[in-house]
Amino acid sequence: MRHVVVGSGASGAMAALHLSSHGHQVLVLEAGRPFRPITRKVRHAEPLRRTGALGTERTITRIFPHMRTTRSGELVVVRGIGLGGCTALSCGSIVRTERGLREIGLDLNREFEEVGSKLSTCTVPKERWRPTTRRMFDVAERMGLRPEASRKAIDLERCVSCGMCELGCATGAKWDSGRWIEEAVSLGAEVLYGSEAQRVIAEDGKVTGVSVSGPKGTTLIRADTIILAAGGVGTAQVLQRSGVPVSDGLWIDPVITIGGVLKGARQLNEVPMSWHCFGKEHMISPYLDLLSHYFHPSWRGVSVKDRVGVMIKLADSANGRVDAEGLIEKALTQDDVERIVEATATVEAIMSEAGVKGPFQVGMINGGHLGGTFPLRSEDVKKMRSPSLPEGLWVADLSLVPSSQGSPTMMLAAALGLRVAKRIEDGLDHW
Ligand SMILES: Cc1cc2nc3c(=O)[nH]c(=O)nc-3n(C[C@H](O)[C@H](O)[C@H](O)COP(=O)(O)OP(=O)(O)OC[C@H]3O[C@@H](n4cnc5c(N)ncnc54)[C@H](O)[C@@H]3O)c2cc1C
Repeated sequence: MRHVVVGSGASGAMAALHLSSHGHQVLVLEAGRPFRPITRKVRHAEPLRRTGALGTERTITRIFPHMRTTRSGELVVVRGIGLGGCTALSCGSIVRTERGLREIGLDLNREFEEVGSKLSTCTVPKERWRPTTRRMFDVAERMGLRPEASRKAIDLERCVSCGMCELGCATGAKWDSGRWIEEAVSLGAEVLYGSEAQRVIAEDGKVTGVSVSGPKGTTLIRADTIILAAGGVGTAQVLQRSGVPVSDGLWIDPVITIGGVLKGARQLNEVPMSWHCFGKEHMISPYLDLLSHYFHPSWRGVSVKDRVGVMIKLADSANGRVDAEGLIEKALTQDDVERIVEATATVEAIMSEAGVKGPFQVGMINGGHLGGTFPLRSEDVKKMRSPSLPEGLWVADLSLVPSSQGSPTMMLAAALGLRVAKRIEDGLDHW
């Protein structure tokens, strides 16, 4: 039995690892390349940044092909393309989140525990936080927001606090799902890089293979099972190209970073998001948003040494649309905007009280937790698959999750990949 896993992010890597470790033949198709972090001194781009010569956020892909951005109005959707998918761009924050799952009867408790046991996590000691970050934590505590130090899948001995987690970890301190792929490969799995799944081929309602565009042009790869784990956007593209309708329910957990100023704060010299607190359907965390810093016009006037940022990660409305080419239509709703306004007032109060000065400037609204395009219905939870899929085709990523999280999603994606892999491994006979 040959399983093809599409994508090497949190969900695909976990599915590939589980199946390989149970003796299955696994081939991973990855559209991008083996991951390489940015090692050039991006801080040398400061003078260009100030004049606007860096252009828009689209420039980032030219410098760093693993980060792709797509704009829909004021929203920028970020995707990680390459080994590890978005996990290679992550801040290493590890949170168990499961908003909207109880409503459909999906309990991933066991999978969360198994995924957790495969990650080594820690909190960053307060001595390694910048003084402003410490003061903002104390203020949040006094305000009754119950902040806590964030768990990180980062080896602190190797971490040099460069503050550039989203551009890849140059020292290898940060975990990403490429490590699970390496483990799967040591168990016999194969990986094809630069190989983008185009369309699933089915005959008589049963999967027979997948057409793939890669270094050798378009080829057909035979498979008994295909597991789509290409992320909320990538999976929706492959499904549509294969004739399977998707839902206009894309959510992105937008990040809205409020930028303030404090001379010599040097916030970039710490691990980003070292603490967090939760509000009404959002998370607040100290974070100097690099996309806003380099590409957002209203952030140009402040130097990186003096910039202080705090993010609001919002659980947004599931209302976005992805087409087969990957074009995205998505907008904030009135309800989203009202919740952002409320959370912004809290963030500005924290920052002011901690000595950070205005004018407070809202950064580029960008989201990289992508899901909701093929939501699981309660009647399909037991089998973990929709009857609209041909036999042998599975979806295993955040596309399955009906609502946004407003919280880090790597663990959830991995837990879904694991649950789907277990269902495939079990066979469906006893369901
Ligand atoms: C900048 C950033 C920071 C983040 N920080 C955190 C954090 O600190 N903590 C946290 O928990 N979460 C974080 N996230 C979110 C988290 O990384 C993602 O939710 C998670 O990785 C999703 O896993 P996935 O497997 O569903 O998809 P992805 O990680 O997106 O992986 C999908 C993979 O599929 C590949 N692919 C796409 N289409 C195709 C195709 N047609 N054929 C073959 N391959 C294809 C892509 O190249 C990619 O490798 C962050 C995300 C971003 C963008």
